[in-house]
Amino acid sequence: METGVLNLVGASLAEVAAVLAPLDPRPYRARQVYHWVTRRLVGRIEEMTDLSRTLRTGLAERAVLTDPRVVEVRTAADGTTKFLLEMTDGAMVEAVTMPMGDRTTLCLSSQAGCAVGCVFCVTGALGAGRNLTAAEIFGQYRVLVRHGRLVGTPLNVVFMGMGEPLLNCSGVFAALDLLYETVSPKRVTLSTSGIPAGFAKLQALPRRPNLAVSLNATTQEQRLRLMPVAARWPLEDLMRSLRTYPLERGRRITIEYVLLAGENDSLADARRLVRLLRGIPVKVNLIPFNPDPEFLPHLTTPSAAAVDAFGACLAEASLNVTVRWSRGREVLAACGQLRGRMARSELLPRLR
Ligand code: SAH
Ligand code: SF4
Repeated sequence: METGVLNLVGASLAEVAAVLAPLDPRPYRARQVYHWVTRRLVGRIEEMTDLSRTLRTGLAERAVLTDPRVVEVRTAADGTTKFLLEMTDGAMVEAVTMPMGDRTTLCLSSQAGCAVGCVFCVTGALGAGRNLTAAEIFGQYRVLVRHGRLVGTPLNVVFMGMGEPLLNCSGVFAALDLLYETVSPKRVTLSTSGIPAGFAKLQALPRRPNLAVSLNATTQEQRLRLMPVAARWPLEDLMRSLRTYPLERGRRITIEYVLLAGENDSLADARRLVRLLRGIPVKVNLIPFNPDPEFLPHLTTPSAAAVDAFGACLAEASLNVTVRWSRGREVLAACGQLRGRMARSELLPRLR
């Protein structure tokens, strides 16, 4: 993008007002333009039909509407659709649309790559990439909603794609404000591996999304083996923060737990998990590991019986538990699999 030209995708209301000021400084004008971008999701300034032609021409000299470029779209039998999206500098990310009854869930990426390096995650295996801007995050939403003709339909948005959202608070939080124009904070979920500084910033937000925490382990030693981030935030401290997390009425923290055969899927683990979560308003999401023989050859998925037994142990202790057998596996759109059909050698240089 040329310097001095604002990308309206990702712009706050104040930024829109500033770019419009020399053309038409009235606040309602800025709101009109902002709503075309954030609510009606138009792809071209030309389509903002309640602005005069002169105003549209003037705006087009100062601003652009640039969304991520769709490189590939693949739909699985269950309706899950995976998008491979390219940013203007060539960075690639993936985003997924999952229809569930009358509601559709959109899974967005917050970074191209991830520096956290969890041992069970393909994005982690790719290594650190870069933060996405608000425009690149909200742009994923715009592309998915337009492509699926979902404007005006009930949506959930989850930050469970590539990247650690709390390592990109500025991009993600700005994108949240844009999303909230059409999706209630109650319908947005941010999933994190647990980054202390980001966690504090999240708590301070005036409108918080739902919180999902990827716990994945029941002892510090085990978590450290699976998620290097545990060195920075020991399990005990993380649990203390969850216990005091300010939750809105009726909300619960989602605890995500990837089940890895022989690593964290024993009944002793299940019983420890029950003890760990006692007294915290949670719902538990068990995610049987999605294998990836190329990137993650050392790990395997537990049997369905082992998953059921683990879940039953939690349910017996009156925990609210769901098992998330991943959707869209055949298009490699499942958790931790977001990398498309591209080979490692092809993908890595683009992420750097
Ligand atoms: N970085 C954030 C959000 C992206 S990962 C986080 O870690 O929470 C989204 C979810 O996918 C996390 O709960 C993570 O534990 C899970 N996940 C990653 N790799 C997986 C795999 N191979 N199989 C199943 N779930 C996986
Ligand atoms: Fe990063 Fe989340 Fe993957 Fe861990 S699970 S490497 S935090 S994307």
